[in-house]
Amino acid sequence: MTTNRTFTMIKPDAVENGYIGKILDMITEAGFEIKAMKYTRLSQKQAEDFYAVHAERPFYGELVSYMTSGPIVAAILEKDNAVADFRTLIGATDPSEAAEGTVRKAYAESKGRNAVHGSDSDENADIEGKFHFAFEEIH
Ligand code: UDP
Ligand code: MG
Repeated sequence: MTTNRTFTMIKPDAVENGYIGKILDMITEAGFEIKAMKYTRLSQKQAEDFYAVHAERPFYGELVSYMTSGPIVAAILEKDNAVADFRTLIGATDPSEAAEGTVRKAYAESKGRNAVHGSDSDENADIEGKFHFAFEEIH
């Protein structure tokens, strides 16, 4: 299944540091169209469920507490080749390894507090988008 859509979150560190506008600008300048968007804060259960795939990893507890520490911006984005192109735009998980010109290189604090989420497959983009948005909220 190829939907040409991906799911993103501007994470609590980037919101706290005042980078919402700058990150959205990079995203739209790169050709992504916003299909759904909300400013919200994850509950403990939402963060645990969203990152359930990482439940056995040593950083899981820290990740959940960070992702619930403040508001986020959640969005569904559309573009040809959305998942792969968005991963290229955001850069490596660890900003010290992220390429010049990427969102994480510019705005992430650390490997944990790394400014943005990007889906890793079309299947997960669909699951993650539906996790955050009702059908009527996608335009
Ligand atoms: N993470 C972390 N330490 C690690 C790896 C990941 O704190 O060693 C956090 C980080 O916020 C990352 C998220 O867990 O964005 C999900 O990890 P993943 O490997 O899926 O990285 P991503 O797909 O976000 O680049
Ligand atoms: Mg991932």
